[in-house]
Amino acid sequence: MKRILIIEDEQVIVEVEKDYLEASGFAVETAASGDIGLKKALEEEYDLIILDLMLPKTDGFEICRQVRQVKNIPILMISAKKEDVDKIRGLGLGADDYMTKPFSVAELVARVKAHLARYNRLTTDNRMRQQDEIRIRGIRIDKMSRKVFVNETEVPLTSKEYDLLLFLALHPNRVFSKDELFEKIWGLDALGDNATVTVHISKLREKIEADPSKPQYIETIWGVGYRLNL
Ligand code: CA
Repeated sequence: MKRILIIEDEQVIVEVEKDYLEASGFAVETAASGDIGLKKALEEEYDLIILDLMLPKTDGFEICRQVRQVKNIPILMISAKKEDVDKIRGLGLGADDYMTKPFSVAELVARVKAHLARYNRLTTDNRMRQQDEIRIRGIRIDKMSRKVFVNETEVPLTSKEYDLLLFLALHPNRVFSKDELFEKIWGLDALGDNATVTVHISKLREKIEADPSKPQYIETIWGVGYRLNL
């Protein structure tokens, strides 16, 4: 049975979430304050965390940041604020999803299931990091020769295109902002700016996507950045 931790101080919301999740076959534990929630999240094993943003003691941002340093389980953040800034901050901290109050509990349960399914695939695919070869659907990356094949046909990539694709492939299903990608691939001291990332993403798509205008691999997350879908 998958274990879910709900960190939420509004008791009414906790009870509704807990009832729905238990009815859907999950084992649910709850914490009503940030510090208790953080302690449980760090010390015990859960498959997913539903994390409210505004909490007494330690807030959701801090909990997300600390949990993310040691665990890569899905974190679904809940907030009363609708501002996109919060959304970006949430994603930048490594949250996997974000919902604003009021929300439908049925949708929450659906997202929980989707994230658990994706995380299952992710942990399986994380084993690829140790290997010489990475396969994501039709793409094969040979790390030894730095060659990339799409449906077993080699596609020539520039060095930076390769680095960008490899980085995204090593962190599938995670969203990275242009700034993050620029820093990771080009380095802080490099000349240029995050428009360089946009250009390289578009060149990569031309090479690896069947239809670059409808990308199946590198998805644009509007207002946030890019993610390579498994
Ligand atoms: Ca709250």
